[in-house]
Amino acid sequence: MTPWKRISEMDVEGALDELGTSPGGLKEAEARDRLEIHGPNEIEFKKPHPIFRFMKQFQSLLVYVLLTVAIFTAFIGEWIDTAVITGVVVLNAIIGFIQEGKASEAIESLQKFTESYSTVIREGREMRIPSGLLVPGDITVLGAGERVPADIRLIESKNLHVDESALTGESVPVEKDPSTLREEDILRGEFRNILFSGTLITEGRALGAVISTGRETELGRIAERVKEVDVKTPLLEKIDEFSRTITLAVVSLAAFNFIAAILFGYDAVLSFLASTSLAVAAIPEGLPAVLTVTLALAVRTMAERNAIVRNLPSVETLGSVTVICSDKTGTLTRNEMTVKSIYAGEVSYEVEGVGYSEDGYITLNGSRIKEPPEPLLRILKCGLNCNNASVADERIHGDPTEAALVVAAHKGGVRERARRVDEVPFDSTRKYMAVLTEDGLIQAKGSPERIIGMCSHELTESGLKPLEKDELKDRIHEMASEGMRVLAFAEKRHSGTEIHDEDLTDMTLLGFQGMIDPPRPEAIEAVGKCKSAGIRIIMITGDHAATAGAVAAELGIETSRVLTGPELSSMETHEITKSLDDCNVFARVTPDHKYTITEILRENGEIVAMTGDGVNDAPALKMADIGVAMGSGTEVARESADMVLADDNFATIVAAVSEGRNVYERIRRIIYYVLPTSGGQALIILLSFLLAPVSPTFSASLPLLPLQILWINMFDGVFLALPLVAEASDESVLEKPPRDPGTGIVDYTFIRKVGLVSAAMAISGLAVFYIGVSRGLDVTVARTVTFTTVILVHVFYLLTARSLDKSVLRIPPANRWVATGIIITVTVTLFIVYVPGLEVIFRTSPFPSEWWGIIIPFSLTGLLSIEAEKYIMGRLKHE
Ligand code: ATP
Repeated sequence: MTPWKRISEMDVEGALDELGTSPGGLKEAEARDRLEIHGPNEIEFKKPHPIFRFMKQFQSLLVYVLLTVAIFTAFIGEWIDTAVITGVVVLNAIIGFIQEGKASEAIESLQKFTESYSTVIREGREMRIPSGLLVPGDITVLGAGERVPADIRLIESKNLHVDESALTGESVPVEKDPSTLREEDILRGEFRNILFSGTLITEGRALGAVISTGRETELGRIAERVKEVDVKTPLLEKIDEFSRTITLAVVSLAAFNFIAAILFGYDAVLSFLASTSLAVAAIPEGLPAVLTVTLALAVRTMAERNAIVRNLPSVETLGSVTVICSDKTGTLTRNEMTVKSIYAGEVSYEVEGVGYSEDGYITLNGSRIKEPPEPLLRILKCGLNCNNASVADERIHGDPTEAALVVAAHKGGVRERARRVDEVPFDSTRKYMAVLTEDGLIQAKGSPERIIGMCSHELTESGLKPLEKDELKDRIHEMASEGMRVLAFAEKRHSGTEIHDEDLTDMTLLGFQGMIDPPRPEAIEAVGKCKSAGIRIIMITGDHAATAGAVAAELGIETSRVLTGPELSSMETHEITKSLDDCNVFARVTPDHKYTITEILRENGEIVAMTGDGVNDAPALKMADIGVAMGSGTEVARESADMVLADDNFATIVAAVSEGRNVYERIRRIIYYVLPTSGGQALIILLSFLLAPVSPTFSASLPLLPLQILWINMFDGVFLALPLVAEASDESVLEKPPRDPGTGIVDYTFIRKVGLVSAAMAISGLAVFYIGVSRGLDVTVARTVTFTTVILVHVFYLLTARSLDKSVLRIPPANRWVATGIIITVTVTLFIVYVPGLEVIFRTSPFPSEWWGIIIPFSLTGLLSIEAEKYIMGRLKHE
């Protein structure tokens, strides 16, 4: 019987005995020993064996084409060709293998960024530890939004609901509680007192003892079935698919070419050579590798800037974001709360000091309050008791809003926290929190609307009086329009041991505390950048409308008005759509409203980034094009998001958008650069074939041999295209409006640029070959001239390909990789042409030096045609 089954049949005490633990938790030394015995709380997912991964590299159409060529060359006795082509195939596999290794390393290292932590009780103290260090017997505290880190026997629970779909596939949350299982529960397979590793807490709180960790958990047992580390991300798959389609098209074209040639009565060997050359020429061998490196580097750059992208294609989507919907607290503001104002007993007090230091006093009209009057004392006590945060040496543990209330209480001399019997935890839909203290007092705090709704009386210095709602509203508005977050406080005597909804009525309002949360300076700057980048910012907050409006103004977010959640709920969809034209601040919203707003914006064709941190934010995060979770948020939100912000900062989203735009430009530049090599060489073969009937030069021999083409493609991909990846990010990308998401990479510009350079390369290659043969050069020498020209066309083109619209004369000369790539390429080409041994392999032969006078001018054609294109397009744009 598995341990959890056995333990589920025991009562709580029996289970704790069995696990050798107690509610105060394990001793540190004991936990260390247990970690030795059981190992870390991790599940290693199965990875394919390296040999298997290596063999997988050979499963591609390109390899099949190359191997066919190799067999053919062996057949006609060209052994060197066979050896070189086989070498290329193996080299290609090695590059692919390393590439894939790097990609999976990058993905694994990203997982480390999102490492999860658990709250445990050890030696009677609550602490946060990495979940990997949990051991059997640890007592853990779990709340809504957390993923259960191990198999756990419940000790206590409050309104606990768990989504067990990771294990059972059933996504309706099940209720759990610590009671001992009855016979019928066991028969029905309902293990209500056990939490399983990998499941999600959707609601409530729990205290439990760890039964087993890592591989010994139920998830560990079935891990191999549940998940395998998947190295290929969707974008890489798309790229693979793209190259597969191209390869297939090219191979069909080549086959057609071959059949046609035979039917027209050409020499079979030459026809075969021409057709395979065509195939080899047109397949962009190097492209997938270069694009993978580009994306992997971008993901790393973003991670260094605190934006952890969870799936690679999001990098590209980020670049086209048109609207960023952001939470306020902690993202646009610092989430460093300081209570500045207290309204209690119809008196407004000020609070001195900033941050979490206890320096400062509560004052009235500038003089310190030494003996707080009863209403002030009660509101401070309520703030301290109805609170889960603690502050020590200006460092806080828990929610900043609550920490601010702790500091305010301390400033007023209130330090003693009452023992608690029951709690209704805070959540952003409920917007309040309540506790029941040992001495029979319900104390609640939350948004003024919610708390006032629970009250019938207000505490004044002279006793209770009925609520005067209008007067209170004015007070709230006054505080909120200064940008303060306002919380209301209430209490009531209670005789039971639990809090039920119906108990939260007829309460006594104690007053309000108003706290400031200054905007992040970098967020103000980022808002400015978004304006010039044509990105709209919408603030969506759970806070009060006046607070939201005031903070938005400080940040520079313009809006025609502030709409609230209740207003949204009463509106029809078309009215919300209309309001989204000019309303950029939404207050008092619930996560459902976030979902609706995202949905409508997307329907209007916007590309939406939406932030969130709570459990209930998950649907909106999934609905958005880019769901952005806070690093400090719940695991559920992080798992539903495309990007996680390690620093919770709005400016980081904008930096990621900027990087996303840069990546897109980089990918475009690389594709525009690589494809003409394929296009140009394929055209050379195709045209020479078409010219054969009219010109004996072309009917007798090919201007380039398959091996030479293969070499140019492979070499170009690595030494000339790869340096483009290192091209510096362009800060000015944020000065342009977002790219139209409807346009793909293949557009009119693509066709124009790729077409121009391909044509320049083909015409130059064919021309020099023709001139060479007609001036009496040996075919091998003429081919060497062609080979050199094609490479140089590409080298010169690289100089201008670094920018899509700026002239070569205006591109900053910074990228040293481009210079290095060019030097290597030119040196190696000279070696191939002039060094005796190599000519045997590459079928080249040195040409007389005066031929450089022909090669160089032809080599400039690609560069010059693109320069002309940029000039003309620039002029057209300005007209
Ligand atoms: P944002 O959505 O921008 O992060 P927020 O933090 O104000 O804003 P919520 O956390 O959903 O949004 O809070 C909504 C409201 O609930 C707050 O304006 C406040 O009135 C109240 N509130 C916030 N924190 C607590 C808490 N710990 N206890 C009780 N009430 C709270």
